[in-house]
Order: sequence, then structure tokens, then C-alpha cells
Amino acid sequence: MEPQPCQIDWLKVMAHKREDYFYESKNVLDQLQLPIEAMHCQNFNCTDEKHLEEIEKFHAELTSSLLAATSSAFKTTGKRNAGKFNNPDWKSVVKSKHQIAKAAF
Ligand SMILES: [Zn+2]
Repeated sequence: MEPQPCQIDWLKVMAHKREDYFYESKNVLDQLQLPIEAMHCQNFNCTDEKHLEEIEKFHAELTSSLLAATSSAFKTTGKRNAGKFNNPDWKSVVKSKHQIAKAAF
């Protein structure tokens, strides 16, 4: 069984494993749909079932995506992600997600 992200001592993980996790998580996060309607909601006490459902779904997908990235990066066999050196760095990945989220408001 693969380790959970919280069980990993990231400082002791080999650099190429951290890199694997970086690219695996980028791949899965890129596929996530942001909960656009819920993100537009301005009501702090919102009880709209659709909004709550969107947020629940997003949280579940985010969690399972990161767990999948962990499994993928820390499995003992299998190929590392081909062509990954063409991908942007982590800061730009986060930045692009941030911009998408910001643009939604
Ligand atoms: Zn709402």
C-alpha cells in the first residue's frame, strides 16, 4: 500500500520522487473542474444545495486526485512520466489555477 501524503517525510524523499509527485499532481489537478457557480456565491451562510454539493464534490475530487498522484509517484514499478521536462514549474501551475479562480469572480 502506498504512503499517504501526510506520512511522507518530504525532506528525506529522493529528489526524483518529489519531481514525480510534482508532475503527477500537476496532471491530475489540470483535469479538475473548478466549482465555478459556488465560487461566485457571495453568501457566507449559503445553504444552496447545489453550491454545497459543488464544493463537496470539488473537495472529494481534489483529495482523491492528490492521493492518486501519490500512488502514482510512489509506486515501486512503472515508467516515470515521459516528456515531463517540457512542463511548466510548480509556481506557474499554481499561478494559472489562481488566475482561473480569480477570473471567475
Ligand atoms: Zn451559495
